[in-house]
Amino acid sequence: MSAAEDTILICTDLDRTLLPNGSQPESASARPRFGVLAAHPDVRIAYVTGRHQALVDEAIAEYGIPVPDYLIGDVGTSIYHVQDGDWQPQRGWQEEISASWGGRDGAALHALIEDIDGLLLQEPAKQGPCKLSYYTPQDWERDARLAEIEARFEANDIAANLVWSLDEHAGSGLLDVLPAAASKLTAVQWLIERVGLSADHTVCSGDSGNDLAMLTGPINAVLVANATADVRADAASLADAAGLSDRLYQAKGGFHGMNGYYASGILEGIAHYLPQTLEFWSHIDG
Ligand SMILES: [Mg+2]
Repeated sequence: MSAAEDTILICTDLDRTLLPNGSQPESASARPRFGVLAAHPDVRIAYVTGRHQALVDEAIAEYGIPVPDYLIGDVGTSIYHVQDGDWQPQRGWQEEISASWGGRDGAALHALIEDIDGLLLQEPAKQGPCKLSYYTPQDWERDARLAEIEARFEANDIAANLVWSLDEHAGSGLLDVLPAAASKLTAVQWLIERVGLSADHTVCSGDSGNDLAMLTGPINAVLVANATADVRADAASLADAAGLSDRLYQAKGGFHGMNGYYASGILEGIAHYLPQTLEFWSHIDG
């Protein structure tokens, strides 16, 4: 998986970041331009998503987005290297993260918390080997309930990372219970190390709560302009608290005639950190 020195790694969320499946309109030239950028020989693409591999395949077919070089799926709990149409799971990552649950699986964790108010188990297809996922009400008493879940796990020696996002489109909350060692950020960092890239040549992009760890850490990141005001404010204050405000770019729109939503926000942010990428795609008409 080794890469050349000038290789650029783009790590992007899918739903409502690269995929225009939100309520805002998409600039017509954005995805074609992203496709041309992705095809450049110096560029590697990683999708970093809550989706599992089969649902990523569906998105590729439905939206005509590029087949990636890597997939970080299931909210950072699975990693694949994609070569010649073959999705190769990186088992080393799963072994590394699964220890946090003390050898227990999602069903065992569910049994510890299932009576907590507002938790509705997601469909079996949305559960993973290291991912236990629930729907919650949109106006769920998040802080109190998460503390309750935390306490139950602690009492059972389980170290979990609780990631809550709002699906504004569906009007519901999404709670992912992951091993403590797993997040979109830690998975991206593992990938960078394995591929042998420098973090300086990496840019991450996202739009919602489960992207915040990845967007407010030490890696160059862009928040697309269709993110809600709450997410924008949370991202800004988390990055500020970590002293990493210069690693977070908030897309504004008005860049090469595009609105800053979805793929156009990604392109705007990548060009902010790595202006050399402009010549990879700016010949494509707006
Ligand atoms: Mg998203």
